[in-house]
Amino acid sequence: MANDTLKLQAIISHCKEYGFIFPSSEIYDGLSAVYDYGQYGSELKKNIRDYWWKSMTQLTDNIVGIDAAIFMHPTTWKASGHVDNFSDPMIDNKDSQKRYRVDHLIEAYADELEAGIGEREAGSGKQEAKEILETMDRLLAQNDFEGLKKLIEEKNIKCTISGTSNWSDVRQFNLMFSTQLGSLAEEASEIYLRPETAQGIFVNFLNVQKTGRLKIPFGIAQTGKAFRNEIVARQFIFRMREFEQMEMQFFIRPGTQKEWYEHWKETRMKWHLSLGISPDKFRFHDHVKLAHYADAACDIEYLFPMGFKEVEGIHSRTDFDLKNHQEYSKKKLTYFDTELNQHYIPYVIETSIGLDRTILMILSEAYQEEDLSTADKKDSRVVLKFPPMLAPVKLAILPLVKKDGLPEIAKELMSACRSQFRCFYEEKDTIGKRYRRMDAIGTPFCVTIDYQTKDDRTVTIRYRDSMQQERISIDSVREIVEKQIL
Ligand code: ATP
Repeated sequence: MANDTLKLQAIISHCKEYGFIFPSSEIYDGLSAVYDYGQYGSELKKNIRDYWWKSMTQLTDNIVGIDAAIFMHPTTWKASGHVDNFSDPMIDNKDSQKRYRVDHLIEAYADELEAGIGEREAGSGKQEAKEILETMDRLLAQNDFEGLKKLIEEKNIKCTISGTSNWSDVRQFNLMFSTQLGSLAEEASEIYLRPETAQGIFVNFLNVQKTGRLKIPFGIAQTGKAFRNEIVARQFIFRMREFEQMEMQFFIRPGTQKEWYEHWKETRMKWHLSLGISPDKFRFHDHVKLAHYADAACDIEYLFPMGFKEVEGIHSRTDFDLKNHQEYSKKKLTYFDTELNQHYIPYVIETSIGLDRTILMILSEAYQEEDLSTADKKDSRVVLKFPPMLAPVKLAILPLVKKDGLPEIAKELMSACRSQFRCFYEEKDTIGKRYRRMDAIGTPFCVTIDYQTKDDRTVTIRYRDSMQQERISIDSVREIVEKQIL
């Protein structure tokens, strides 16, 4: 098994080799921090999105889904605070001209201290790293840019390219992409590519509430693309400039936000654990510096190959967004609570998870290099141990040879199963090679049709994780697979 630093590299190569994820427009050398999902990656992505969507909208009583446009009226982003506040403190290295997000620069230094890179022993810098991160959180919370620059200089943090600490002042940099709506320059107006999906929910709050006759507490869920001009775009699909979010805004009575915040923290953590991931791979990280809209916020962090990092944010957004949209649009956005006989602007708890980061989390869990060597033979395999419900292909149907009526039986099985779940048919190469290819894309079940099938309608089913094989009736295959993928 590759160690953790190599594991991310191994996952990236594997994803490319087996049709999961490619650099965008690769024939032109790619586009930084933009990726395309291939034939298996897009299936995996769809399955994760569906799993989230089902748990939010189908399995919860009072949450409905919508699909709002990426383009929104430009005033939306004024009202939401993104025009003025959606920025990160940045610093430039004057020698290399490279721009860094201040928190990333300091965090990378703290990670090195902790890992004992340089002359230190691993772990010896743990206390110092902790102190640096605490100081950074405090300075960020106070918007103390001079203090942040001083911290970087005091610690003699260097640019990885020039190797110098010749830094500019710390400045804010807005992360929204803008473009022009309209065909003629004089008619065009500047609009933004949404940096989060949430605002599409807020501006539709009353449309959905009224047409759905929804009573508070209720939620609106949405999945879709978001765009951020990330400065430090690295770590594969962890930080992208175009990515997908799965967000849910839960509308509640003012004053009940603490209970609902706790409720959603717990509910979302349970969802992550339902993916079969061990609890010690997760932790909560409470925000010290709160976003401009929040009165409480935390992240669910997962232990990625590059360390604990945010996969989902849970934010108590107060009535900030609806109140501002009401003010800017001059349209009433209040709700009438029949039980209280009162009009009010609801408070909101948001759960916001990145689909691409979830994919990276699932890949990090699933990817395994197994040594299968015996005394007389060296052997190994790379296997993606996806939960069966998320696997891009559920069942591979493999006739032993491509003659003597075996492909016909295999195709019969294929037509019995393909309307229920994704199947894959292959008749080339040895069965061993075909099994390995299915392991590499994470197919949980393979079924081989051989000569015995012609006599007694039995087939060999092979389980991906244990590699065990069993003889079963061909008529029970569909049911066995269906049971595992619900
Ligand atoms: P970070 O601090 O890592 O930039 P954030 O706190 O800005 O993330 P949120 O605004 O809370 O992120 O967005 C919610 C979720 O959207 C995140 O938890 C993450 O999963 C996902 N996300 C945010 N930015 C990106 C990105 N650039 N690439 C991929 N996913 C992202």
